[in-house]
Amino acid sequence: MRIPQEAKTPAVPMLDLKAQYRRLAPELDAALRGVLESAHFIGGEDCGLFEREFAEYCGVSHAVGVANGTDALALALKAWGIGPGCDVVTVAYTFVGTGEAILLCGARPVFVDVDPTSFTMDPAQLEKALTPRTKLILPVHLYGHPAPMKEIRQIAARHGLPVLEDAAQAHGAELDEKRAGGLGHAACFSFYPSKNLGAYGDAGMVVSNDGDFVARVRELANHGEVSKYEHRVPGTNSRLDTLQAAVLRVKLRHLDLWNRERRERVAAYHDVLGDAGGVILPRERRDSRSAWHLYTIRVPERDRLKAELAGKGIATAVHYPRPLHLQAAFKSLGGRPGDLPVSEQLSREVLSLPLYPELPLEAASRIAAEVRAFSATPVGRA
Ligand SMILES: *Cc1c(COP(=O)(O)O)cnc(C)c1O
Repeated sequence: MRIPQEAKTPAVPMLDLKAQYRRLAPELDAALRGVLESAHFIGGEDCGLFEREFAEYCGVSHAVGVANGTDALALALKAWGIGPGCDVVTVAYTFVGTGEAILLCGARPVFVDVDPTSFTMDPAQLEKALTPRTKLILPVHLYGHPAPMKEIRQIAARHGLPVLEDAAQAHGAELDEKRAGGLGHAACFSFYPSKNLGAYGDAGMVVSNDGDFVARVRELANHGEVSKYEHRVPGTNSRLDTLQAAVLRVKLRHLDLWNRERRERVAAYHDVLGDAGGVILPRERRDSRSAWHLYTIRVPERDRLKAELAGKGIATAVHYPRPLHLQAAFKSLGGRPGDLPVSEQLSREVLSLPLYPELPLEAASRIAAEVRAFSATPVGRA
């Protein structure tokens, strides 16, 4: 198939949510109609059912739905008593919401570097960053790859610290056959539409085996209310709405299939790119299964490859072009170039290729062949 150079809309998008809707339209339409007819838009039956079903999926006992993933993190931190004077150790190589949630509750993010192959928190760096002010550790399962939780939990246990998973990109990821969400003291999920499990708007969730903790999050997410018009603490309005819960209940039933379909597309990429020089491929650690939220490769000439693929109608994206310690929003922390060399190098070299369950396998193979051809072309000859 030839795609004209001047194609306006990318022939292969990063994601195709319309295709996903077409697959599920009858189920989704019925679920949405059920909510519309019940007119229980806040706190309807689907909210509690989805909380139970998602907790069970993660292998934990409790869950509370909230308005989005950033609130899930901020409310979880707050429910843990994290606030001014507390340090939270996390990574700078992540989506902004991770660090933002720490600032939102008045605490200070302490950024550590990541491992260059798994893109997740480097336990050796974590150990070095701990101080008496450290109150919590917040690793991120970036791109769907579980952070090295065994090592992180060991370090946390030695220092008596809780571990909160940012599992916003890791619905269904596994470490030692246990799912993300059950790998720390608590975990936060986002159901932003593009995530492996995505709502039709914003939504999030906090899960944990600690029922008291989840009850505190629930209280904070609903105006600090303990019973009708009795407010124990200042909270906020961050509830999961019923229409989103209804959509998510339908989609949860398909998540494992979709994650398997993602894995097949990853295999198609790997088949063609496996031994290509000049490209570093994302790999799973032996003890874990990625949820493959993103398929992110490393290439030194990233921007040139991105432009070349765009010219062929292939969309790509950079996750993420600037680590948080170098973002203006985190300037007050005094981060400087050179502080986190691995994160900074990754931000210059990473490129995410299209990956979604409906991506035709032959499209993955064709994209991989383009990347392979590019990396085989000596620099300066193109
Ligand atoms: C998406 C995401 C969030 C925030 O989720 P929202 O629902 O968009 O607020 C937090 N952390 C990571 C790693 C994410 O990918």
